[in-house]
Amino acid sequence: MEIYNSKVIISKKEIDEVKKVLNSGLIAQGRRVLELESELAKLCGTKYAIAVNSGTAALHTALVSAGVGTGDEVITTPFTFVATANSILMAGAKPVFADIREDTFNIDPDMIERAITKKTKAIIVVNLYGQPAEYKKINSIAKKHNLIVIEDAAQSIGAEYMGKPSGSLGDIGCFSFYATKNIMCGEGGMITTNNKVYTERARLFRHHGQDEKKKYEYTGLGYNYRMTDISATIALGQLKKIDEFTNKRIRNAKILSKGLMGIKGIVVPLVSDESKHVFHQYTLRITKDFKISRDKLKDYLSGNGIYSGIFYPKPLYLYEHLKCTKAEINNMPIVKRVSGEVLSLPVHPFIKISDINYIVAKILNL
Ligand SMILES: *Cc1c(COP(=O)(O)O)cnc(C)c1O
Repeated sequence: MEIYNSKVIISKKEIDEVKKVLNSGLIAQGRRVLELESELAKLCGTKYAIAVNSGTAALHTALVSAGVGTGDEVITTPFTFVATANSILMAGAKPVFADIREDTFNIDPDMIERAITKKTKAIIVVNLYGQPAEYKKINSIAKKHNLIVIEDAAQSIGAEYMGKPSGSLGDIGCFSFYATKNIMCGEGGMITTNNKVYTERARLFRHHGQDEKKKYEYTGLGYNYRMTDISATIALGQLKKIDEFTNKRIRNAKILSKGLMGIKGIVVPLVSDESKHVFHQYTLRITKDFKISRDKLKDYLSGNGIYSGIFYPKPLYLYEHLKCTKAEINNMPIVKRVSGEVLSLPVHPFIKISDINYIVAKILNL
């Protein structure tokens, strides 16, 4: 038996839709991309949505569109996929890390406040594993210091915070449709916002600074971040099943937590009262009180055909191109410990309930 951490299933109907696009000969950015933009705006309750070809492109475009550039500092979490921090470098700005909370794995608002300087221009908040961070506090800090809030919603499509959809929780939302994400199309991304100026800039930026109506008029530097109609069609098909996918992830997480709760040295994921967690990952903390180490548990599970993941094995400030001073690192003790404790178990919508019970049984048998 093999139980993987993520799985892609594209139905025959969805493949037929892709065939239609291929047969039409119109395969670059076109009608299907517009359709996907309108579906995302609807899902997020935002006025605008701008499609791009990756989550990384979405973050880069969002930063530049919000006016972040050389000399600016952007506060973010050190416990995320590297793209979050790299996008800040891509915009010419400096990433400044603030420690996380050990219960939700998300950035700690109090630590954001401590990291603010005269140069701070924006905050990229990551909704790690599919659970929104504390936007009430974060938005009020941002308002007080005149900062832009960018929501890295790559893992949180369909999530909610205080009844509001992810993608509408800050000033700009950024999604990824990479193959392992809750809604995917291989590679793809989306920006959501209510801000018209950011929207206009983002549309130019994804297309070499070219006005979509005036060919060969370039308003400034841009990139080729356009999405194809082929990708958009795959994403549109997947998006139709978002409620089913999300509900299954939540159900699977509940079964795992019920089975694993109360074991010494295992901390099951906390779901905050304020949020709807969409379980992009189901992440345990394996503390030093557990019978074996986190890494040994991972090996034991893979020996039994269960493939777990470590997201993420080390804080981003340990990578050479993102390094911090000693003093800054000393201000982040939580992420240092927690990155050695996390283990994500399979939770995706295509796992059978009997397989989830098997995972629980294997851990209980230890
Ligand atoms: C996947 C991911 C990204 C990057 O998205 P790509 O589509 O792979 O470029 C950024 N941030 C987070 C938190 C992610 O999980």
